[in-house]
Amino acid sequence: MPLLVMKFGGTSVATLDRIRRAAKRVGREVANGYDVIVIVSAMAGKTNELVGWVEETSKFFDAREYDAVVSSGENVTAGLMALTLQEMDVAARSWQGWQVPLRTTSAHSAARIVEIPTDNISGRFADGMQVAVVAGFQGVSPEGRITTLGRGGSDTTAVAFAAAFGAERCDIYTDVDGVYTTDPRISSKARKLDRIAFEEMLELASLGAKVLQTRSVELAMRYGVRVRVLSSFEDNDENAGTIVCAEEDIVESRPVSGVAYSRDEAKMTLMSVADRPGIAAAIFGPLADAGVNVDMIVQNISEEGRTDMTFSCPVGDVARAERAMNEAKERGEINFSGLVADTDVCKVSVVGIGMRSQSGVAAQMFRALRDEGINIKVITTSEIKISVLIDRKYMELAVQALHDTFGLDRAA
Ligand code: ADP
Ligand code: ASP
Ligand code: MG
Repeated sequence: MPLLVMKFGGTSVATLDRIRRAAKRVGREVANGYDVIVIVSAMAGKTNELVGWVEETSKFFDAREYDAVVSSGENVTAGLMALTLQEMDVAARSWQGWQVPLRTTSAHSAARIVEIPTDNISGRFADGMQVAVVAGFQGVSPEGRITTLGRGGSDTTAVAFAAAFGAERCDIYTDVDGVYTTDPRISSKARKLDRIAFEEMLELASLGAKVLQTRSVELAMRYGVRVRVLSSFEDNDENAGTIVCAEEDIVESRPVSGVAYSRDEAKMTLMSVADRPGIAAAIFGPLADAGVNVDMIVQNISEEGRTDMTFSCPVGDVARAERAMNEAKERGEINFSGLVADTDVCKVSVVGIGMRSQSGVAAQMFRALRDEGINIKVITTSEIKISVLIDRKYMELAVQALHDTFGLDRAA
């Protein structure tokens, strides 16, 4: 039988009523002749609540216990979804990650999928089961501990199952009806895209567009999984949603295809560190060991053998970054006169494969920000994206200004 993967995000399973609506969609695909693997997230808000409980209990928590707690939201929805399907006379059962078993690395709270054996679930399909409901976001480490795949990780569970089982398609049901030129919650002018290239989706996701987890796009690209993002609240026809596909299959071509933002960034500066070989390694080694997710890095001009080193990281990593730097100083590995954290910044980025062949995009971006009186604190670029760090209070304004200046509200 052909097989489909259907993933329902938190808002799509937020109440028992919504679970019923999602289950009806699944039932329709079963009636269409598909075996279905359903991947579920925790009910909306549940994972945030669980994370909050962990943080309130322990500041520098044991990541293994963090995973034990935050993975639990998905267990509830998986069971409820299986029960709901059974009530509709669909043969369904639930699986938690360890039961599959979805094997991951030991990198707790950011584990990567290593293997998904298919025999267990395939055997059940062969025996007449119609739907396998799998708890998203979670797996099991080689040590036998529960792991999670990072926030938004159910998307990755879904794409990985689609790849492992050779699914015809991986449908990601969410609370918007596709991938937009920017977050429709920030700009009313955001326009839905019928298609988006893997590379662009990858950049948008990694720069903050949380509609798909970055790793899920990487996997889809690597294994050629057909991913479709669509609304769980609307009736969808054949052409609904957004297809994530290869660059060759995109007709629309323009320098910038989307604007992304990441709200909770911090800018940290180590003042007056020795400008000598090995200093970057001495700073960023301990930060990496402490699990600090460093993004942009700027080293200033050196004066009298001293320099300032600036980097950005998520606000949530600041305490760990400060601790790692102070400990490195105590060990005598680095020396600095001060450590300044600016926790009121955000990152705004423009993305487009068309940038490869078109110059002047950066200048146009900087002019648009200038015209709004927005000061740029740090800039980074790659082949298909330009990112700036700015004050958080200007985030919405910057997103809208960039969306306007690149004409994203109009079809190309
Ligand atoms: P789910 O719970 O279904 O996984 P998420 O909240 O993780 O849903 O992702 C969907 C959200 O992503 C949307 O509600 C939207 O606010 C946000 N988003 C950010 N950027 C985009 C974009 N470019 N296109 C569509 N949605 C976006
Ligand atoms: N529930 C998890 C989260 O909120 C995973 C997911 O929804 O994809 O991050
Ligand atoms: Mg999500």
